[in-house]
Amino acid sequence: MLAKDIKGLIQSKYAEARENKALFFNDGDTSTKCNSENGMMYWIRFVPTLLTKPEKGDTPANSDPLGKHEPELLVLQDMDVVEREYKLVLNKFPIMPNHSLLITNAYKHQNDMLIPSDLSKCYALLQQVDTATERHFIIFNCGPESGSSQNHKHLQLLQFLDGFVPFQDRLCNDIEPFLPSMKLPPLQDKFVSFAHFVVPLPELPTEEYLMTCYISLFEHILAFVKDNNEKNEPPVSYNFILTKEWMCLVPRSSIRAQTLPVGFNSIGYLGLVIIKEEDTLLKVKENPDIIDTLLLECGFPNAMKLKHQTF
Ligand code: AMP
Repeated sequence: MLAKDIKGLIQSKYAEARENKALFFNDGDTSTKCNSENGMMYWIRFVPTLLTKPEKGDTPANSDPLGKHEPELLVLQDMDVVEREYKLVLNKFPIMPNHSLLITNAYKHQNDMLIPSDLSKCYALLQQVDTATERHFIIFNCGPESGSSQNHKHLQLLQFLDGFVPFQDRLCNDIEPFLPSMKLPPLQDKFVSFAHFVVPLPELPTEEYLMTCYISLFEHILAFVKDNNEKNEPPVSYNFILTKEWMCLVPRSSIRAQTLPVGFNSIGYLGLVIIKEEDTLLKVKENPDIIDTLLLECGFPNAMKLKHQTF
């Protein structure tokens, strides 16, 4: 069971932490663009303050800033009041207001798989915080190339920008929920360049249902990486994205793109592109279609992509 009024608690703690300068938020340049070939919507955000955010490998091995959270950032020590598995902490380097982290109270590694109660708690949290006008998503960056920067197991809760439609919505539109299997594969968009696996969810999925979806998507990732990655060394890297409507896994080959100095985690594969340097921002704004190439460089080619056809 989750604590009550989690959204209210996040909002008041966020306002207080911002006032006290306990977190670094930069309300910088934001624009939305659409890829002219595949229709994927991008939300491009310039956040130069993220240049000070620790990246993968910057945090010393014996330090655990998420385990030993800063008190000014703590929203709830026990987000799940009975099991007390997760605490809720504000992200010190938020990419948007109220950006929060769900961190395991007992140390677990970020490369661990999600467990059934993780999924049911995340889904319950989305049910609690979503309203008719405010929609949220939860991400989990897993594995060395996934874009994760901290080893202590954590998921992240964020809110969609008003009117932003991720390509996964288009993909699941009018599709009845189904449990994917090797015979009944998950959905893949025929227009984007990078491989991804999506499954639409029913209105009130049980914990078992959510876990079956996750395991099935994960098995697809494993099979895909085995066929497409010469290195193929465990642990496999992937991004996990959950909304109330669908679950999506994206296999990852690299943290950073080659064409431009941009890196991605799960939010990139929703179309949210965070840029830290001004000249990169100019190049991306000039030619937003390049984002599809950047996402491909950090993922794997989409075998379902239709050649020479626009959406
Ligand atoms: P990830 O990069 O996916 O591993 O997510 C870790 C998150 O923790 C990042 O979004 C960071 O901004 C955030 N973070 C880093 N250091 C701290 C800290 N001391 N307190 C709270 N959040 C942090």
